[in-house]
Amino acid sequence: MNKIPRLRFAHLPTPIEELPRLSKVLNGPRLLVKRDDQTGLAFGGNKTRKLEYLLAEASANGAATLITAGAIQSNHCRQTAAAAAHHGFECILVLTDSNVNTKLPRPDDKKEQPNENLEDTAKPATGNLLLDILFGAELVWASSQERDLVLQQTFQKAWDDGRRPYLIPYGGSNTVGATAYVNAIKEMLDQFREPSINLTAPDWIIFPSSSGGTQAGLVLGASIFGYQGQILGISVDEDALILKERVARLATETADFLGERKQFMEDDIFVNDEFLGDGYGVMGELEKEAVRLFASSEGLLLDPVYTGRAAGGLTKLIRKGYFKKNQTLLFWHTGGTPAIFAEKYQDLV
Ligand SMILES: *Cc1c(COP(=O)(O)O)cnc(C)c1O
Repeated sequence: MNKIPRLRFAHLPTPIEELPRLSKVLNGPRLLVKRDDQTGLAFGGNKTRKLEYLLAEASANGAATLITAGAIQSNHCRQTAAAAAHHGFECILVLTDSNVNTKLPRPDDKKEQPNENLEDTAKPATGNLLLDILFGAELVWASSQERDLVLQQTFQKAWDDGRRPYLIPYGGSNTVGATAYVNAIKEMLDQFREPSINLTAPDWIIFPSSSGGTQAGLVLGASIFGYQGQILGISVDEDALILKERVARLATETADFLGERKQFMEDDIFVNDEFLGDGYGVMGELEKEAVRLFASSEGLLLDPVYTGRAAGGLTKLIRKGYFKKNQTLLFWHTGGTPAIFAEKYQDLV
């Protein structure tokens, strides 16, 4: 795995901290948090780890422009735009928003300057979108139905224009991106081996799961490095069946990519999909309560879409007595906090 090209810009290892006040409020088991919201790049998050590998591959391929896609408040897009600026790539983001209609610029329209984008937006850009613009990313808008098509067209146009594009998949979740979380398991196990931390490795790792790269990497890393605990992904937008299948396939492919002979089946992957609420990106009472609880009891910020939902699920499971009192739970904080300041969410949190 050390042979896989990697750029180093994430602040690693991310800290592991105890959450004793939260644990007490919930009358639950011992709680730890792994601070991947502190990976160092432009407010951090799990995509920064993946981008260390993805940008290395882009460089090796002689690419000049990074292209990726996501929702209007995508953390993945924000971190990609920041990493691009940090390493001298151009960046094009294909963004979807439920309010987008056909009047918005298309890939074959005149190239928009970032500042024009700012002024053209009917409402001021906020949260991650504001940051995308500050990092100088070019924005292309698509309806969710046309997102794949527009992404393909955008790539083709950049290719035809000689911009040497490199396509990063949704959420950075391919074998290259997932490799980062294989390593993250090793990083975590090494931290628990240090005498100063004075804790044993957790019985459970719990985190939000969506495009599956994080979970696939964690599961494969556990198998390679001998982590024995449970790895529970709280689904953010997908039925458990679909997400398990996706994670198992990606974990198997990533094993192959790393030269490890391992095969993962759906039953090897733990996913809970009880907390989907009103769908992706819709903040409800569950997320609101979790954001407030973590902030007020520990001074720890969650985000409204991913970690808010996963932490809401986690608190529900703790209250239901799902975990044993003598177990240790590690909440893997995957980032996303700039979304708190998005116009869409700031009144709800
Ligand atoms: C992308 C993202 C996730 C999900 O990670 P996947 O690897 O796509 O499953 C979780 N939390 C945050 C904050 C994210 O931005």
